[in-house]
Amino acid sequence: MARDTLHGLHRASRRPPAAKTPPPPGRAEAERVEAVLARLAEADPDPKAGFDRTDPFRLLVTVLLSAQSTGPTVSRVAEALFATAKDPAGMLALGEARITEIVRPVGLGPSKARNIVKLSAALISAFGGAVPASSAEMRRLPGIGRKSAEVTANFAFHEPVIAVDTHVFRVSNRIPLAPGATVDAVADGLAHQVPARFKDGAHVWLFRHGRDICTARKPACPRCPVSDLCLWPGKAA
Ligand code: SF4
Repeated sequence: MARDTLHGLHRASRRPPAAKTPPPPGRAEAERVEAVLARLAEADPDPKAGFDRTDPFRLLVTVLLSAQSTGPTVSRVAEALFATAKDPAGMLALGEARITEIVRPVGLGPSKARNIVKLSAALISAFGGAVPASSAEMRRLPGIGRKSAEVTANFAFHEPVIAVDTHVFRVSNRIPLAPGATVDAVADGLAHQVPARFKDGAHVWLFRHGRDICTARKPACPRCPVSDLCLWPGKAA
């Protein structure tokens, strides 16, 4: 998973422009959303290849490290950290000061190290050192927000939730699939709009579509596989 992490995941702090004309509700709109997902699924039928044996604790910590950092740096730092400590007990033994030194390159090192220690202690005291299998339980852990919990639950446990990072947020508003002004609104909209059969892979498809094609500054509309289904007024011909 080190090569194609989700983990250039920046926070979705900036709002992309929403489509000026909201699509009509109803069946036609549901069919358009389904067609977008079907198109992305067809192009990438095994979106989680290589991620299947992900260690939930490592994934949770990696996503925690990814806030406001880039994927390659996060992967490198996570590699270094987990070469030293592999589980919550190991993190506690390593200690906050040493963890801070290791994770400093990803930025916000002291607060991330503090959260890793708190998270490890909570996992040991409440779950016997294991990561709980549901995103709802993960969200009660220190330092773990909705996105981190849903990425981990989706990848490690195949929970059918669609985590919203900056890429998923942008494409969901542009195409649109589930327009919304906040990450929570988009996540709730996707949960409602995306057919069940696409939910397990939807985060990866939308993340990759936003990262590789529908980029923030210069979307590659001429080679976009869903351009005929996209209603964004700013799309290129
Ligand atoms: S047509 Fe352009 S704006 Fe629409 S989804 Fe494709 S890349 Fe994004």
